[in-house]
Amino acid sequence: MGLDRVDAGDMGRAGAATQTDAHADAATLDALIVGAGFSGLYQLHCLRDRLGLKVQVVEAADGVGGTWYWNRYPGARCDSESHSYCYTFSEDLYRSWEWSERYPGHDEIRRYLNFVADRLDLRRDIRFGTRVVAAVYDQDNNLWRVTTANGVMLSAKFLIAAVGCLSTANVPQIQGLDRFKGQWFHTGEWPHAGVDFRGKRVGLIGTGSTGIQAAPVIAESAAHLTVFQRTANYSVPAQNAPLSETFRRDIKERRSEVRATTHAANNGHSFLIENRSVFDVTVEEREAIFETAWQRGGLQFRANFNDILLTREANETAASFIRTKIRTIVRDPKTAELLADIDHPYAAKRPPIDTGYFETFNRDNVVLVDVRANPIEAIVPDGVQTRDAVYDLDIIVFATGFDAMTGPLLRMNIRGRDGLALSKVWEAGPQNYLGLQVAGFPNFFTVTGPGSPSVLCNMPVPIEQHAEWITDCIRYMRDHKFETIEARPQAMVSWVSEVNAAANATLLPQAHHSWYLGANVPGKPRVFMPYAGGMPRYRQICDDVAAKGYEGFELRR
Ligand code: NAP
Repeated sequence: MGLDRVDAGDMGRAGAATQTDAHADAATLDALIVGAGFSGLYQLHCLRDRLGLKVQVVEAADGVGGTWYWNRYPGARCDSESHSYCYTFSEDLYRSWEWSERYPGHDEIRRYLNFVADRLDLRRDIRFGTRVVAAVYDQDNNLWRVTTANGVMLSAKFLIAAVGCLSTANVPQIQGLDRFKGQWFHTGEWPHAGVDFRGKRVGLIGTGSTGIQAAPVIAESAAHLTVFQRTANYSVPAQNAPLSETFRRDIKERRSEVRATTHAANNGHSFLIENRSVFDVTVEEREAIFETAWQRGGLQFRANFNDILLTREANETAASFIRTKIRTIVRDPKTAELLADIDHPYAAKRPPIDTGYFETFNRDNVVLVDVRANPIEAIVPDGVQTRDAVYDLDIIVFATGFDAMTGPLLRMNIRGRDGLALSKVWEAGPQNYLGLQVAGFPNFFTVTGPGSPSVLCNMPVPIEQHAEWITDCIRYMRDHKFETIEARPQAMVSWVSEVNAAANATLLPQAHHSWYLGANVPGKPRVFMPYAGGMPRYRQICDDVAAKGYEGFELRR
């Protein structure tokens, strides 16, 4: 197969013989990876250093970090615990990095990924400041032809999208934004220099994980903060804290154990879900368990029972515990009622964890506005206009989420065999096989794309699994002299059914305006996108597929 190294001279000649002028000087790579976040960095290491391939990463940003390069808003912090929110494939990497807090902040994660890039000498194969604007499969030459915004043309046998799930900011189309006299920002494209809120009247739109993290921090420095809430949300305290020396030492000794637990856990976290129903204990015992979990903090709150995401009755026990907490914390009864008036099952939307979110509404400089009852009608020069009032603002912060999962892939304008556009294949929602490949797009892989457990997990776990699976697959192709691999249409149809069935076995689809369903972006097809069957089951399916000679894929010589 064409994975032999090609020197620049050979590539130039090959290009001139077969390609348009634009591609004449293009470098032909074995693999081109798009994105230098967690997934792109590891994929580069796997393909370059384990398989010896000629690989390049292109990255729109000026540095590594992926989502953490862009998400620098006040309070931005991961909700996975730091000792599991990292690569675990390497003892050396795991031992050489010191996390400072229970949950890593955005700056610490960036420092970590920069450390990894240096330690593995990745930077020399990353082209920063380079955004892909088109990727077309050239079937005569079995190459992906990739065009970037700054005119760089690249060709590669394998194209691997490591573009992340939450990297296309969703700024709602609210009329009048262009006439706003103040400043506005989306949390996912936060200025590197930060934003000075001192003395300012700030409006925060959105109460998802991001808004819930940002509100307490903004409220501390702003003169006044107005939080515009459309859908009330559950949140559990993160209970973030510095890590003790003992914990940090201990965790390094237990890397293998941590890794084994993250592989055994459905969500890839470093804890397992308790094997008991909420109804296996008395009401008093259950309240005590929830209270202990609340004090301990974090996503582990939902892991105390195995049926919280399975039945409404079980879910309601956790949901009502949290609503009671909200009413206890928030002093103003009207505000407390608005915050506790939650319309979906607990954890059916991604459950936020917070540092002082509900307490923020006890501050004199913070108000909550219900934009479900009084929708935002326009942005006016002085602020936000709802049906009932105008809120004068100096700064508007949009914590309004992302065109998740499909957005980053579709904006690359990917065309496969016979010019088939990915946007066409996904017109009615994403379809693929194992979240890894789409029929009609040979040698194109997605890391944590739709149909993968991805966002339902602690992300480094599916990322390591996907990157390793793709690497093994390419090694297999080389060893068996296959030139192309492509998902079979029938395998894709079966996988979409499996993804739907897995979601429908849970309460997840019951959060009707969740980004898991694409419901946050007007006009986006409503399809439950991530695979909810759990990471261990997914890993087993992928391993079985590989063991059967890549069943469901068509391999051609
Ligand atoms: P999100 O969960 O999609 O929340 C967006 C919020 O904006 C929702 O409250 C939504 O209301 C509101 N909104 C959107 N358009 C609006 C409009 N036109 N008017 C009024 N409100 C509007 O986005 P996110 O909070 O950025 O979180 C996205 C995901 O990123 C999370 O679920 C998580 O996976 C990840 N994340 C992780 C962390 C972490 O690790 N700690 C932190 C932040 C984010 P509706 O609900 O009514 O649509």
